[in-house]
Amino acid sequence: MRVRFAPSPTGKLHVGGARAALYNWLLARGSGGQFLLRIEDTDRERSTPENVEQILDALRWLGLDWDGEIDFQTQHEERHRAVVQQLLDEDKAYRSNATADDVKAYKAEHGADKGFRGFDHPTRSTDDTGAVRLRVPEGETVVRDLVRGDTTFRNVHMDDPVIARGDGSPLYNLAVAIDDHDAGITHVVRGEDHLSNTPKQLLVYAALGAEAPLFAHLPLLHGPDGKKLSKRHGAASVQELRAAGYLPDAVINYLALLGWGDEDDETEIPREELVKRFDIERVSKNPARFDEQKLRWLNGRYLRGQGVDALTATIKAHLEETGHGHMVAGRDDLLRIAVEISQEKISTVDDFWPLAGFLFTGPVDDVKAQEKWLDAPHLEHLAAVRDTLAGVEPFSVEAVDGALRALVGERGAKAKDVFQPLRVALAGTAISPGVFESAAALGRDETLRRVDAALGR
Ligand code: GLU
Repeated sequence: MRVRFAPSPTGKLHVGGARAALYNWLLARGSGGQFLLRIEDTDRERSTPENVEQILDALRWLGLDWDGEIDFQTQHEERHRAVVQQLLDEDKAYRSNATADDVKAYKAEHGADKGFRGFDHPTRSTDDTGAVRLRVPEGETVVRDLVRGDTTFRNVHMDDPVIARGDGSPLYNLAVAIDDHDAGITHVVRGEDHLSNTPKQLLVYAALGAEAPLFAHLPLLHGPDGKKLSKRHGAASVQELRAAGYLPDAVINYLALLGWGDEDDETEIPREELVKRFDIERVSKNPARFDEQKLRWLNGRYLRGQGVDALTATIKAHLEETGHGHMVAGRDDLLRIAVEISQEKISTVDDFWPLAGFLFTGPVDDVKAQEKWLDAPHLEHLAAVRDTLAGVEPFSVEAVDGALRALVGERGAKAKDVFQPLRVALAGTAISPGVFESAAALGRDETLRRVDAALGR
């Protein structure tokens, strides 16, 4: 099996493109086949080195390694031109000056469902200037698709497709078919948006007398609202998922299960297992729903599954990337504890700093929370909390927990009226890791300093 991913480098790698790349990769790795990468860079304005690098960077981050050298479509232009010439020489293609209006007039005369035939038509060009059209033979063109089944197109309805411009430069459907053929591609797995190109590409195979590959057209991705996936559904590209703090393994897991038959898309399946179990024929024909909330949930499981040490390293690297590295530098012990007490409450590495950054920087400035929990009645509780904490021995999570629960009983207060003021004194806000854990992480001195500041002492 030889498959390929053939992106046009127009910018970031979209989630839909990443899924196409992944399915190709899974097929190749699961069958001992080859996964090739062809950059379709014929749009020279958009195919900048930066855009190519964005695609490669996204594939590397996802761990989708390709076999052999990267292929660039523009390098094959001479070959494409030679094929066009060969088809012209064999009368399988011809030069044509037919305009859209000519094609319309042809249909008015022959019937709207009749494909345009220009070989024996006055618009056929006698010199070397017209666009090159491929002659559609009689018969049928069958797209054999592993997801959608066979679809038969009657050739009589297809216009003779333009395969090269007047200057001989090849058009997309010609280039793709030749490149796939030359590379020995056995399965073309790509988005459903290419479905209408496929019969044209098959006509090129037929004209070359070459065996066509099998196809798998993947259904489009929708957002949870059933509309085509776009930016308003959240992160729409691999780069954005990365910046949002997702782990590549979680993204791979989630994308693999999107629209994969009846598999629940929240199941944790490691990469090696996905490779073993992936079956393109089980991919559903229906649009798949990309739901970032499910990805978040799955990502949280992957985060915790790393174990505290690995997660600490992952988070440290992310903090360095996002400009917070200096805040945690030299404080590895506190960072490890902070990660340990935060891990149940975070779903992405990006969630860590807003939740636990106060341990390093001091209380944040959440005026609303402070007005609510540090008003006069709550400050009375906080003063009692201070006295209790000053005497807790040792200053551990368990001891702090026990002493403060006893204090709640003594004061006949509600637990939250005692604990929340402490939380807000330590964090500046009402959302944080566990309050006893946070106090223990800060240690007695720093805890009392922050409580004193809240008490105005
Ligand atoms: N270059 C095309 C794209 O980026 C894909 C072509 C193909 O997979 O056949 O949409």
